Amino acid sequence: MKAKVDKNSCIGCGLCEGICPKIFQMNEDNIAEVIVDEIPTDDIVDANEAKESCPVEAITIEE
Ligand code: SF4
Repeated sequence: MKAKVDKNSCIGCGLCEGICPKIFQMNEDNIAEVIVDEIPTDDIVDANEAKESCPVEAITIEE
């Protein structure tokens, strides 16, 4: 599974990085970036929690 962040929607709150730092990291512009290609199986629950927690629904997770 892969995660994506819509850079135009992200408001830089940092929540996703706080919940799942192995997948999401804030860049120099304070926008979240996905730092892995495939989400490791062990991190899918956390990645989904980050997605659900994003206040602007900027995160999508796809097969
Ligand atoms: S939770 Fe959403 S708005 Fe907040 S930093 Fe992550 S992608 Fe951006």
